[in-house]
Amino acid sequence: MDPLKALADAERKPYWLDSPARPEPRPRLGGNTSADLVVVGGGFSGLWTALMAKERDPSLDVVLLEGRRIGWAATGRNGGFCMATLTHGLANGLERWPDELGRLERVGVDNLDEIERTLERYGVDCSFERTGELHVATEPWQLDGLREHLDLISELGLDYRPLDQEQVRAEVNSPTYLGGLWQRDGCAMLDPARLAWGLREACLRLGVRVHERSPVRSLHDDGTMITLRTPHGAVTAPRVALGTGVFPPLLRRLKHFVVPVYDYALMTEPLTDAQLAEVGWRNRQGVGDSGNQFHYYRLTDDNRILWGGYDAVYYNGGLVKPEYEQRDETFVKLAEHFYDTFPQLAEVRFTHRWGGVIDTCSRFSAFYGRAHGGRLVYAVGYTGMGVGATRFGANVMLDLLSGERTERTELRMVKEKPIPFPPEPVRSGVIQVTRWSIAQADQNQGRRNLWLRTLDRMGLGFDS
Ligand SMILES: Cc1cc2nc3c(=O)[nH]c(=O)nc-3n(C[C@H](O)[C@H](O)[C@H](O)COP(=O)(O)OP(=O)(O)OC[C@H]3O[C@@H](n4cnc5c(N)ncnc54)[C@H](O)[C@@H]3O)c2cc1C
Repeated sequence: MDPLKALADAERKPYWLDSPARPEPRPRLGGNTSADLVVVGGGFSGLWTALMAKERDPSLDVVLLEGRRIGWAATGRNGGFCMATLTHGLANGLERWPDELGRLERVGVDNLDEIERTLERYGVDCSFERTGELHVATEPWQLDGLREHLDLISELGLDYRPLDQEQVRAEVNSPTYLGGLWQRDGCAMLDPARLAWGLREACLRLGVRVHERSPVRSLHDDGTMITLRTPHGAVTAPRVALGTGVFPPLLRRLKHFVVPVYDYALMTEPLTDAQLAEVGWRNRQGVGDSGNQFHYYRLTDDNRILWGGYDAVYYNGGLVKPEYEQRDETFVKLAEHFYDTFPQLAEVRFTHRWGGVIDTCSRFSAFYGRAHGGRLVYAVGYTGMGVGATRFGANVMLDLLSGERTERTELRMVKEKPIPFPPEPVRSGVIQVTRWSIAQADQNQGRRNLWLRTLDRMGLGFDS
């Protein structure tokens, strides 16, 4: 189908948030109050932090402040790939923390197991399906990349199954596939908005005081207590945790480490049984192709296909703006790629198109830290892979606040910080040259130019 026609009736809003299950917002913070712990941010990061703080100590008085609505940002508009990896994939982990990769992988799988158990414990229905992820190659050079780490994978005891062309097409039938690698246990598919709302409900049940539409405008530390002010109130506490993602940070130093990158997605109408049979997909894995600019796609519980990725857009100046959430040029490109991948679905139309902002840092995986004499902690920089990893980051924040030394706080990955981005306008120039070089590499059998090789050597990068 012509992409413009296929997109003509697509709503300009995130599919997951466009749901009758979206709860009414909790009341704004009004007047002055105090608490034992204030969590800022009502995305996955803040929600997990508040929930696990109460699980660790039910007597703790916890306040969660969200500037808009719970889960409205990246949390409610992502692909719903809930991954075990804490390092933005094996290759990035191997590059940066080879000595502790085995431990990082194990801790990541434990984290995913714990997410599954938490959903059972609180009865959170977010269509969690532990299907794994199918990595597919659509160009010969990508096959080499998929096979590169097979020895390491078996050494680490990870459950990956290499698939040849026939086998991968028997899983998901696309004429573009040349081979694949099925990572069978390390990823689950879920509905991210229903996960966020379920976590909100669990927080409320444990007694967390949740306030929506309560943006924190200022932070004042008197040396013992921190006071956070919102337009209608203030809360004072000895401990603060920031799960504020890419938004203008309450801790100024974070702005050097995180840049906003926009990522876009489409949702199709539900496939008919006949259309689904044409594609196969009986094991319902999430799928990712293996270019530097990659697509991610998956089935929903009513058999729509979410189709996203490829363009990762940094708008010069590095601002977060609602108008950046729509990009017609990208939507058309994504639709074209969808029909190239699944020509048998030429009659399928799209019902939703949207974008969201990602907290990108130069090491592609979150970093953690303390400030204000240990009274404030943060975890940001998930770089497009935070659905699962935010729970780990929340645990790190709670460990840091308690002052405890745990297996998590002793990890080199947790102790180290990423390399900062240069200030604007150099930042925009550097990022746009990098984006251009990444696109060139995909056109050129994956060969990285001098610029990308230099960044690789410096441990610097740009990704969604
Ligand atoms: C299109 C898209 C697709 C993605 N796909 C995947 C995927 O498939 N798998 C995956 O693992 N990850 C994916 N991600 C990334 C994932 O969504 C994020 O890593 C994760 O949601 C980050 O959660 P968070 O709580 O840190 O941030 P956010 O969801 O951004 O939440 C931060 C919250 O803090 C609030 N806030 C900020 N400042 C203040 C303040 N001063 N006062 C009060 N509140 C404040 C904001 O309003 C916001 O609600 C995707 C992201 C996008 C945009």
